[in-house]
Amino acid sequence: MDIFYNPKEMQDWSRRQAILGKTICLVPTMGYFHEGHLSLMRKGKSLADLVVVSHFVNPTQFGPNEDLGRYPRDFKRDIYLAEQQKVDAIFAPTPEQMYPAGFLTEVSVGEITARLCGKSRPGHFAGVTTVVAKLFNIVHPDVAVFGQKDFQQLAVIRRMVRDLNFSIKIVGHPIIREKDGLAMSSRNVYLGEDNRASALSLASGLQLAQQRARQGERAVTNLQTMLQDHFSVYPAATVDYISFVHDETLEPMEIVDEHTVLALAVHIGGKVRLIDNAYVLPAEETDCLREQPLAE
Ligand code: AMP
Repeated sequence: MDIFYNPKEMQDWSRRQAILGKTICLVPTMGYFHEGHLSLMRKGKSLADLVVVSHFVNPTQFGPNEDLGRYPRDFKRDIYLAEQQKVDAIFAPTPEQMYPAGFLTEVSVGEITARLCGKSRPGHFAGVTTVVAKLFNIVHPDVAVFGQKDFQQLAVIRRMVRDLNFSIKIVGHPIIREKDGLAMSSRNVYLGEDNRASALSLASGLQLAQQRARQGERAVTNLQTMLQDHFSVYPAATVDYISFVHDETLEPMEIVDEHTVLALAVHIGGKVRLIDNAYVLPAEETDCLREQPLAE
């Protein structure tokens, strides 16, 4: 497995591979790998000849009071895990290499970035789209894989790719969960054992909404009230948002249909902000764009 720190070296490698006729899949990450990341890498192997994993804790997508300074890191372990997945190259630049002195450009997607996480994390998505656009230009992938876990991010990237004519196929990958239903996240290390039960309120909230919808409830206001009651039972959980939105436009919906995604963001124990989401009416057939129903 090759490891590149320098954008130019990464770019040269990718150009050489293109000349050899090899296709490339990019898996963008911030490192501290868990099974969710590894499943994206394996998916990548099935989509292209070569998999490149970017490993970069992007400072511009963190707000001033967020967890950039304490974001968990373990580069050695990550290299070992990526190698086990037969990843072909890791791209691990420093912030200075990505944003050299004089850097001025920003890629920002409109309206859909103002909703959901965009409300409580102003500037976050501009940080994401700028870095992803840079990664696309550095790695030259044919395809890139993103987790459905960051549902809004996936929608925003799809919009950017369409709007800016990037010739890159964007593939979404289902959420990988712990046995108890908790969506895997690098930030789960912030949760102590005492907060674990409260953290599970997200997955159980999604399940509850799916159950009610299966029983025939389609009115979003009723489902929302039910979820507010659900979260009120967990004193360590403070809801940021409970939103029923259209899977592409992210517009709020009043009546649940097959496009409705329930997106949740909840602060747990004042320490960690968790997100999770699921289609309210899970598809009968699961493709890689649709979330599997949570286990009963
Ligand atoms: P991160 O390192 O948290 O920026 O995540 C890198 C990629 O992994 C993003 O596309 C995430 O959506 C994806 N990802 C993170 N957690 C999960 C998960 N539990 N299941 C599937 N994909 C995930």
